[in-house]
Amino acid sequence: MQPEIKDTLGRALRDLRISLTDRCNFRCTYCMPKSIFGREYQFLPKEQLLTFEEITRLVKIFASLGTQKLRLTGGEPLLRKDVEILISQLAQIPEVADFALTSNGSSPIKRVQELKDAGLRRMTISLDSLDNKVFQEMNDVDFPVSRVVEWIDKVVEVGMTPVKINMVVKRGVNEDSILPMAKHFDQPDTILRFIEYMDVGSSNGWRLDDVLTAKEILNMIHKEMPIEPLKANYVGEVAKRWRFKESGNEFGVIASVSQPFCGDCTRARLSADGSLYTCLFAIQGHDLKSLLRSGASDNEVSESIANVWKKRSDHYSEVRSSKTDDLPKVEMSFIGG
Ligand code: SAM
Ligand code: SF4
Ligand code: SF4
Repeated sequence: MQPEIKDTLGRALRDLRISLTDRCNFRCTYCMPKSIFGREYQFLPKEQLLTFEEITRLVKIFASLGTQKLRLTGGEPLLRKDVEILISQLAQIPEVADFALTSNGSSPIKRVQELKDAGLRRMTISLDSLDNKVFQEMNDVDFPVSRVVEWIDKVVEVGMTPVKINMVVKRGVNEDSILPMAKHFDQPDTILRFIEYMDVGSSNGWRLDDVLTAKEILNMIHKEMPIEPLKANYVGEVAKRWRFKESGNEFGVIASVSQPFCGDCTRARLSADGSLYTCLFAIQGHDLKSLLRSGASDNEVSESIANVWKKRSDHYSEVRSSKTDDLPKVEMSFIGG
């Protein structure tokens, strides 16, 4: 193992999020709006995606540089054919202490057990409302909420707990769903996380006015269900931890817009086509796929990653302003949410 590498702001390379595909069967209005991701949209052709062997090789190299936390995401990662094979390869990398996958919970329910058997340890499921009408309007493909709830129940049943539930909150769209979600997921096996709507990509028409801040969300909950803060589990934890006073059950808020946490950001992202991004809001990636396919050795790839990381100075959320509004950005489904 090499000595830990740090970026220009002293941040280590601890987490890696990998987008397995830029495709998705949902068209969440805040992520892949139909107006942009319509029938004509050109997704990546298969040969441009990293293969499972390439991903596994890269994760081993990242692990040797200090990466301990791995997330598979997308797009919808469970649309990637035979993903269980990849999971079983990655689950064997000893340095990866924390290994999870983020999904919209729309695949056939039998896959939950298959994913567990392949070695997946935990899952995050996205769910923006328990109200079917609101949920269907947000996923914009009429996917019924009951199927996602069933999926979450199954993940709990097979013991991949705690299951994190991601709820993106958009003002005027699903704020009435905050309390019903808080009540439903006030249970020991799930950790609901309220996420401030972010200005990722250039297609979701983001406006600051649409962001319901963490403070507003917490006030809304506290009026009905008294809450109190909890200590962070570790430095760099994205979600601020809270608990419901009565039950003691945990929930969280991800306040990337109103309370940015770039100072502790140890996350790198690998896009579906094998480029390394050092920030969710990065404009440009570093092409690792070509390097792999040109026959570079593990040492050469490792050096290239380390060089990118050592030059990293990203802190977009801390400088977000009217000046950043018009900057081109990469879509979340491509870079990995
Ligand atoms: N398709 C999977 C899913 O939805 O869980 C994984 C990929 S998705 C891009 C990862 C996470 O990003 C989801 O929890 C989603 O709600 C969140 N997300 C997408 N667009 C967002 C936005 N504009 N602001 C905040 N979170 C967003
Ligand atoms: Fe698909 Fe996830 Fe984006 Fe929704 S948030 S469109 S489920 S990638
Ligand atoms: Fe990390 Fe970039 Fe998000 Fe800041 S804006 S927390 S640097 S991904």
